[in-house]
Amino acid sequence: MNSELEQLLVLQDRQQKIRQIQAEIRTLPLERAHLESQLAATAAGVDVLKLKARQVEVERKKLELDVGTRNESIARLKTQQYQTRKNDEFQAISHEIERYGNEIQKLEDEELELMIEADKLKGEVEVAEKNARTTKDTISRQLTDLETKSKALGSQQQEFEKERETLASKIDADLLDQFERLFNSKGDAAIVAVEHGVCTGCHMKVTTATASRVKAGKEIVNCEQCGRILYLGQ
Ligand SMILES: [Zn+2]
Repeated sequence: MNSELEQLLVLQDRQQKIRQIQAEIRTLPLERAHLESQLAATAAGVDVLKLKARQVEVERKKLELDVGTRNESIARLKTQQYQTRKNDEFQAISHEIERYGNEIQKLEDEELELMIEADKLKGEVEVAEKNARTTKDTISRQLTDLETKSKALGSQQQEFEKERETLASKIDADLLDQFERLFNSKGDAAIVAVEHGVCTGCHMKVTTATASRVKAGKEIVNCEQCGRILYLGQ
């Protein structure tokens, strides 16, 4: 094979590797953001449960206060009742005490329900916190791995770029220019094989004249369809 072509093929290999690495590096911020949002969602889940538990506790305290004021009212009424000598007043006070008693019963039932709910929430918070700790550990590890990967890719890219520079400096400037333009515009490869008379870049048949020029290997030959530089494959 033409030695210029050989050099270009090695150059192309390095450039393709650099392109792959760059593509991988571009996905890293997304991966990181994804992990960080998972972490935030887990923490938010725990906060929601904790807030709910606090609200239940506030409600329960309010009920407790309501029971307290009714108990005070009953005590006051009982004193009044003790002091009265009128039977109808005594009866009226009895009714009022009974009414407060019923209210207290209702409030205490509600309080009991809230206590059961508070217990349930306490358990849920504990489980959620435990899960959140595990998730945090896992995600922290994944973030560290991502950081390591990012550094490794960065130094790999540097190495390939250095190698690429050295290779490029040995290639004719015009040919290198042609190669770069093709490499950047085609997206995959600037140099491709001709296999069974077909350009493997655009998958079109090349002319017999082109095929024999490629076979002779004495010059740089381009595919007449896609413009890629051709070398002889099978
Ligand atoms: Zn082609």
